[in-house]
Amino acid sequence: MKYDIIIVGAGVVGTSIAYSLIPYNVSVLLLDKNNDVAMGATRANSAIIHAGYDPKPGTLMAKLNVEGNRLCEDLCRNLSVPFRRCGSLVLAFSDAEKALLHELLDRGIRNGVPDIRILDQEELHRIEPGVSEEAVAALYAPSAGIVNPWELCLAQAEVFVREGGDILLNAEVSAIRENDGSQVSGRYMIETARGAFEADNVILACGIQADTVHGLIAGPDFEIVPTRGEYFLLDKSEGTRVDHVVFQCPSEKGKGVLVAPTVHGNLICGPTSEVLKDDIEDTATTASKLSEIKVKAARSVTDISWRDNVRNFSGIRANSTADDFIIREIPGKKGIFEAAGIKSPGLASSPAIGPFMIGLLREKGISLPKKEGPYDMTRKKIHFRDMTNEERAELVKKDPAYGRIVCRCEGVTEGEIRDALLSPIPPLSLDAVKRRAGTGMGRCQGGFCGPRIVEMLLSERSDASPLSILQDGKGSTLFVPRDAEGFPSPEGKNAPLKEVES
Ligand SMILES: Cc1cc2nc3c(=O)[nH]c(=O)nc-3n(C[C@H](O)[C@H](O)[C@H](O)COP(=O)(O)OP(=O)(O)OC[C@H]3O[C@@H](n4cnc5c(N)ncnc54)[C@H](O)[C@@H]3O)c2cc1C
Repeated sequence: MKYDIIIVGAGVVGTSIAYSLIPYNVSVLLLDKNNDVAMGATRANSAIIHAGYDPKPGTLMAKLNVEGNRLCEDLCRNLSVPFRRCGSLVLAFSDAEKALLHELLDRGIRNGVPDIRILDQEELHRIEPGVSEEAVAALYAPSAGIVNPWELCLAQAEVFVREGGDILLNAEVSAIRENDGSQVSGRYMIETARGAFEADNVILACGIQADTVHGLIAGPDFEIVPTRGEYFLLDKSEGTRVDHVVFQCPSEKGKGVLVAPTVHGNLICGPTSEVLKDDIEDTATTASKLSEIKVKAARSVTDISWRDNVRNFSGIRANSTADDFIIREIPGKKGIFEAAGIKSPGLASSPAIGPFMIGLLREKGISLPKKEGPYDMTRKKIHFRDMTNEERAELVKKDPAYGRIVCRCEGVTEGEIRDALLSPIPPLSLDAVKRRAGTGMGRCQGGFCGPRIVEMLLSERSDASPLSILQDGKGSTLFVPRDAEGFPSPEGKNAPLKEVES
């Protein structure tokens, strides 16, 4: 099969590019090695739409961060993705840190961050009573926001597919070959775990694998330094501790940690920073790093109730040996583009990365004719718990499935889960339903609703065996068959259901 453009990597960057290509009359395939979109850094980060005072002025990162922040609110509104412009504070605890705030302020002004200013102690505690009495000043950036990162990624991918784009999951790219003129009609042949595809143009957006995938077609000229960050996610009872994203000043002791509300109403604290040497996809959490978060976070917000923790998780940053985002056509490789080293603020920048890539494709002479027929860049999604009682009553009258709560912690209805199962990229695991419908995110972490959702997954996929249902990624099987004596038999993990029953 031949495409005009193949995008490798379905994180928030790859999907922003796919979404930005919707208005053009080109055939596009989006590939990912995992069994869902948003399975890399996009699903495990701080979820902050940074204001843009941190990147060095004049860098691509500074430009795309401020532009991405500006675009994010409208984008989220159009895609029914939760977003809140809550503002951020960088706290100073000493005169030396106050001086640092002025440096950040200066950078923010040069980067074009709107309304950024320094607050004195009194104003700081007035607008954010949750922070420690010891904080003496803060840098206030009202344009900073919080978002649901995996839903932003998913929404862009869903609209891309609904508008005619192709997606292939579980399709790890293992080779990219230049056409030698004999076998294929596209400029490149992409080999994946699910077959080979031709394309005239290829866009690589591979997160922590960006250097490896770059190496499939070109010599090395940067390296990814995978850097893990661990987190606490606290219950909604802690969700109102602070109303802003609260950062600490970077110091010789490190970058500090943030304490922030989430769009779901929880409190997030973290991340740590640890370079991974062996397994670069190791998203474990560790007792030592979690203790570090508790100590550091308590400096900003003194009375966090850690016993109300609902989950710990970690994500891996695609830090790189370059000190800016690398977004370019690979030198000497006509038609191969990459977005590499997309570390933080990659999420905040992502709404601007797609349009920036379109500009780059045009600049390099790639033909992007406008679609002649109509297309729709919006997505409507029901978030039952965010509706008023009147809206809920109206909805339940039309469709009683929205009147049956399945996930009691988060108030997610059977209708919303059914919508997720029928969505343009159907979920293949329990966590994929969670990412689409918001189930299993509360105190019980899916303990109560999990079995009901498995039933619904099975009734939607009538050919599937319960043994094929996954918790999340490849190999995370939920059920194992029993042997003749009734003991779990892992060898039979993939056996079809009738064999299990016999
Ligand atoms: C701990 C942490 C905190 C962060 N906090 C913030 C924040 O608050 N604000 C912010 O703006 N940014 C933040 N970031 C950065 C942000 O999360 C990333 O910049 C962004 O998610 C990068 O998106 P991506 O699409 O480039 O990468 P990813 O989401 O990692 O996606 C890359 C995709 O490529 C796929 N892939 C890789 N190799 C192959 C292959 N060979 N074949 C097929 N597919 C392949 C992977 O499966 C993956 O899905 C944070 C990151 C981390 C880890």
